[in-house]
Amino acid sequence: MKAVVIMLMLASNPAAAQQDYAKERARMVREHIEARGIKDERVLKVMRETPRHLFVPKSMESRAYQDSPLPIGYNQTISQPYIVASMTEMLGCGPKHRVLEIGTGSGYQAAVLAPLVEQVYTIEIVEPLARQAAALLKVLGHGNVEVRYGDGYAGWPEQAPFDRIILTAAPPEIPQALVDQLKPGGRLVAPEGREWQELIVIDKDGQGRVKRRRAYGVMFVPMVKGKRD
Ligand code: SAH
Repeated sequence: MKAVVIMLMLASNPAAAQQDYAKERARMVREHIEARGIKDERVLKVMRETPRHLFVPKSMESRAYQDSPLPIGYNQTISQPYIVASMTEMLGCGPKHRVLEIGTGSGYQAAVLAPLVEQVYTIEIVEPLARQAAALLKVLGHGNVEVRYGDGYAGWPEQAPFDRIILTAAPPEIPQALVDQLKPGGRLVAPEGREWQELIVIDKDGQGRVKRRRAYGVMFVPMVKGKRD
């Protein structure tokens, strides 16, 4: 009897049928992101507000707020929420920044960056993923994200230089073309390596000199070479 009443309620109010998972999201941020040391309030806020469940396949929706990567099709994954938060904090974005992301995937990382910066440019090598992510980002109102289908090894010369660059697929070595597209004073955060990967932070100073440091071990899908325009 109770189930019938609920079904009728949902039928008469479609909005109620769409769970927004705000509580699950708040818990995820508290238990997996704040608890593991992420402090930047702007990052915590955006993680609380970005609907990760919309970026995973319907069948994975109920697992969207566990702290784990999830498959998004085409042999690719959406990154673990803690890693997204940590890399976003490491980037140290500002509201006037133009940011390049390599590896759009589901579009989740781009959606996390969008409210924090002026403009996000993101490149994805799997065409259907690029298309889906662009459509979802548009529906969610992120007008400051531009998605391109292509190979991120070359960066996005027409829009360079960038204040910040983030890679969410791991190249064996960080491509020089991407370091070249970083502004003086800019920062790049990227996983690097093959089976063993580390998160690398590259800072370019005002004179264009580059400093590299290692953050911690990670596991990302490989950055592949392929599509040519
Ligand atoms: N940032 C994504 C997760 C990315 S998974 C998210 O938030 O969901 C890594 C993505 O990088 C995959 O979608 C993969 O297709 C893409 N990729 C791999 N090699 C690439 C390349 N050379 N250029 C652009 N994208 C690439």
